[in-house]
Amino acid sequence: MPRVRLLLCFAASRDSSTLTHRQGTRLLELVNLSRRFGETLAVTEVSVTVGDGEMIGIIGRSGAGKSTLLRLINRLIEPTEGRILCDGIDVTGLRGRPLRAWRARTAMIFQQFNLVNRLDVLTNVMCGRLYHMPAHRVLLKWFTPAERALAIRALDRLGLAEVAMNRADALSGGQQQRVAIARALVQQPGILLADEPIASLDPLNARLVMDALADINRRDGITVLTNLHTLDAARTYCRRIIGMAAGRIVFDGAPEALTETVLRDIYGSAGQEALDERIAATSLPAAALAAWAS
Ligand code: ADP
Repeated sequence: MPRVRLLLCFAASRDSSTLTHRQGTRLLELVNLSRRFGETLAVTEVSVTVGDGEMIGIIGRSGAGKSTLLRLINRLIEPTEGRILCDGIDVTGLRGRPLRAWRARTAMIFQQFNLVNRLDVLTNVMCGRLYHMPAHRVLLKWFTPAERALAIRALDRLGLAEVAMNRADALSGGQQQRVAIARALVQQPGILLADEPIASLDPLNARLVMDALADINRRDGITVLTNLHTLDAARTYCRRIIGMAAGRIVFDGAPEALTETVLRDIYGSAGQEALDERIAATSLPAAALAAWAS
């Protein structure tokens, strides 16, 4: 496929007014995907197909490979083996601009929010446009009125317009995660990858964040893949659940099919203790944004 067509394909706008949601059609295909870190097989021969507009919860014990899987999809890390196809196009070998376009299309949300603390909320949200901006505007930190308006609309949608000018670190954890979601929204992604988005939040804020993700999935047709440390959240919000254990997919189906036997396959014999476990914080690639903001 010519390079220009590839770029256009990945950079396609997905805001609600130009929605090309094709629920049910194949969007993403992971083919025998593996990632090894030294002796550790973090992800092993994962093959799975994701339909456009799905909201999928990925569950499993700490160390099961959930975070690595999302980072592989976003190309934050490279696979040792296997391929990732999107709309039939192999994205595994992308470099340069097409890779930037792919990362723009696959927005990530992290457990620790990844905001630039000393910047105001609005600027943090506008940072979601960085992938789409030419280098000179990134260097000058020059956002257009249209980008500002997009960010304000996203904040308003998440109930945060009033704190737009506050410093990011003045907000509660739940508010910060919703700012991170607003930032992901202005990226206008086709796929939203959320890595333990509610693991650091109290139950009320966890619900607000999951409601926001579900709303984005439903209304904008954005495909959501989210790692979740509680079974409850996965059952409540996701019609499809993928269970991982030791880097492999050991379950892929509806929440109703999560029997005790299946849960033992996913969480092992540690039972309730394993189901309740808290997963360690993910390593956050915030350095680039922080450097940009200094
Ligand atoms: P989960 O998200 O399910 O907790 P991870 O994907 O974070 O699991 O980790 C899967 C395995 O890969 C773990 O054994 C973890 O220690 C290892 N791992 C993940 N990232 C790295 C890394 N950057 N370097 C070395 N080992 C890693």
